[in-house]
Amino acid sequence: MQDIEHVHYMPLLGAVMATALLGNRPATFLAIVLSVAADLIMTTRLSLTEATANTILFVLIASVMAEVCHRLASRTALLHSILTSVPVVTLDGEGRILRITAPAADLLGVAPANALNRDFSIFAPDFGERTLSALLQGDALTAPAAGYWMARRPDGEIVPLIIHASLLAHSVDPERVVLSLADQRQALAVNDRMRELMGQLSRSWRLNSMGEMAATLAHELNQPLTAATVYLHAGQTDIARAGPIGDSASRALDLAKTQLLRAGDIIRRMRELIATGGPQLTEERVSSMIEDLRPLFDLIRQDTGVAIRIDVHETRDGVLADRIQFQQAIANLVRNAVDAVCGHGEGLVSVTGRCLANQGYEIRVEDNGPGIAEDQMDRIFQPMMTTKAGGMGLGLSVTRSIVESHDAVLTVGRSPLGGAAFSFCLSPVSELEAA
Ligand code: ADP
Repeated sequence: MQDIEHVHYMPLLGAVMATALLGNRPATFLAIVLSVAADLIMTTRLSLTEATANTILFVLIASVMAEVCHRLASRTALLHSILTSVPVVTLDGEGRILRITAPAADLLGVAPANALNRDFSIFAPDFGERTLSALLQGDALTAPAAGYWMARRPDGEIVPLIIHASLLAHSVDPERVVLSLADQRQALAVNDRMRELMGQLSRSWRLNSMGEMAATLAHELNQPLTAATVYLHAGQTDIARAGPIGDSASRALDLAKTQLLRAGDIIRRMRELIATGGPQLTEERVSSMIEDLRPLFDLIRQDTGVAIRIDVHETRDGVLADRIQFQQAIANLVRNAVDAVCGHGEGLVSVTGRCLANQGYEIRVEDNGPGIAEDQMDRIFQPMMTTKAGGMGLGLSVTRSIVESHDAVLTVGRSPLGGAAFSFCLSPVSELEAA
């Protein structure tokens, strides 16, 4: 009879485990309580001691089994949610797709049901028989020379992919390989955009710096050329007094004067030729212009280890600007700030933008470097003034010209971060329209 009593527990234990697999912990607790109650009702002929011992034993076993079922259920749920959110396919030993998650099917441009049992190489032609057999032999998966795999979607779009592969142990299960796919379209688009921006910035830098150099040359040479012309003229007046004897010397001085004027013209023409023309001002958002530079800043951070913090408010950040010239100015200021903090402990460069009550939209680039001495603050804007080995001393003069061509003033001061702070204010478009 006792054996029959114990057999009662089997379906009850099954019910508790089923509740644990399908429900939550309170439901399982309720199932255990109800099972104990049901068992007590059914086994009234047992003594109190036996009934208590049976109940304790049942509760213990049921709790352990319920916990195991709970963990199994939550692990399965976790795996399921990972699989539904990540592009994964599994292949058999022949390279046929046995399982495909919705994101993977989406990436390959097919409905999941249409991909099943088809060769994965139909979708990713690079992933051929040879790749699969190397993988099955335990070799690591190496991407093609371009650095990524190309998936060909039925709609004709080519999708660059990074594929991570893992091998499943030989078992009765036909699934042998798990491939996790990562879409590279966005990363490549960012790379393309960055390459294009770098090209534009370096073209604009070449023109700007040549223009600045020509302007400086013209300015510096203008004075000695004018002085030399005046001296020649005075010499000619003296020689004229000597009468016909001085005629030949006077002609020579005339020729020298013509050459000096020619030199002045050449410099002026060169300057006009290099001049980039006025800035092409269009309505732009400061936040978007600076956001475009983020990949460039990421590169600088990777190369130098200097953190570049960007905090540009989008409120009333519409301004009239030449996008590339503006970006050139910010890139120059950031590069200088990075140079200044390199080798000074934990370098930090901050780019901030916000609309100030009366001054318009302010853009600040500051750092925690050594800063600029008070008596150097004016000198640093002079062309060809540099304290760097290999520096050209053109960055700040070009930047100042750009800022001035936007009707603003570039100012320098001390930053609360400890280093230098360069800033300028642009008028928000709304105010320009109202004016
Ligand atoms: P370059 O970078 O070729 O030296 P720049 O005109 O850009 O030319 O800068 C001129 C000088 O100004 C630099 O050599 C440096 O001494 C100083 N300078 C510019 N920015 C900073 C800064 N953020 N902190 C300290 N010094 C700076």
